[in-house]
Amino acid sequence: MIWALVLCGALWGLGSVMRAPAWQRWAVIGPVWGAAFFWFGVPGDLTSDNARVWALATLIGVVWLGYRAALTRLRAKAQPAPAPAAKPAPGAFAPEELERYARHILLREIGGPGQKAMKTARVLVIGAGGLGSPSLLYLAAAGVGTIGVVDDDVVDTSNLQRQVIHRSDAVGRPKVASAAEAMAALNPFVTVVQHRQRFDESCAGLLADYDLILDGSDNFDTRYLVNRLAAKAGKPLISAAITQWEGQISLYDPAHGTPCYECIFPHRPAPGMVPTCAEAGVAAPLPGIVGSMMAMEAVKHLTGAGEGLRGRLMIYDALYGEARVITLKRREECAVCGGGHAA
Ligand SMILES: [Zn+2]
Repeated sequence: MIWALVLCGALWGLGSVMRAPAWQRWAVIGPVWGAAFFWFGVPGDLTSDNARVWALATLIGVVWLGYRAALTRLRAKAQPAPAPAAKPAPGAFAPEELERYARHILLREIGGPGQKAMKTARVLVIGAGGLGSPSLLYLAAAGVGTIGVVDDDVVDTSNLQRQVIHRSDAVGRPKVASAAEAMAALNPFVTVVQHRQRFDESCAGLLADYDLILDGSDNFDTRYLVNRLAAKAGKPLISAAITQWEGQISLYDPAHGTPCYECIFPHRPAPGMVPTCAEAGVAAPLPGIVGSMMAMEAVKHLTGAGEGLRGRLMIYDALYGEARVITLKRREECAVCGGGHAA
């Protein structure tokens, strides 16, 4: 019998080398064992000790195989094939996101529903410069699901003093690409849409794709145009501006009764009257502060937390460390949102 066992073991090993499936190996071993059983085990007398030993060995083998087969079947039943690791449904959070946003979810004013509102929100930021840098970074870090960036400029060495989203090795690269890279590195769970173009009339359709617009552009032409197109599209606009040591910010939403930018600043300053940052200079942390305020107001707007800057203009004077808030009124005769132009 030892030789029969050795032969069966050798056949199993051969099957293993040939990568034959288990059932094929048993199909070979079964008849071999059967022949050995009848040839050596039962030479005429079924009641002999020799026959009993063969019968016992065969029985143990059959029971063991049956047990293994039953166990395999039970395991297959108990462990259904795992579902493919699909991306979470829109608005649903991956486990890592829950950990990432834990400090937000703890806040009573934001919580799970607020975080979910941010995840499904689409925010467009105009300008990836001084104000755009902190805004974009904080919107990405905060978990705003889709963030669009409009800018046609490339990173310049003189930008690096305050436009903290760009690195030294990004000089010469498009700002939208540099910014998108930094945001993806910060939070891979947000989608960044790059719009490498100057904001002009052709961007009217673009606004329709977003829930909230942040204007961090650095010139009056763009600021007035963004205000007009946002009011026309009925989109809320967080607009900010900085110069030297001072910044201002408000949320304009004439579709919901607040003034628009042009209600407050009806007269465009004559060219050259208000110097740009390039002409007059700007303190490095100032866009960081005001741009972060833009992101803060965006988070509040999207989650419904607190009181936004609707109908209020905050003016921050960095040189004297002062801030004041002015209540704004809508102008009926406003060329953008007043009278017959009302959204
Ligand atoms: Zn207006």
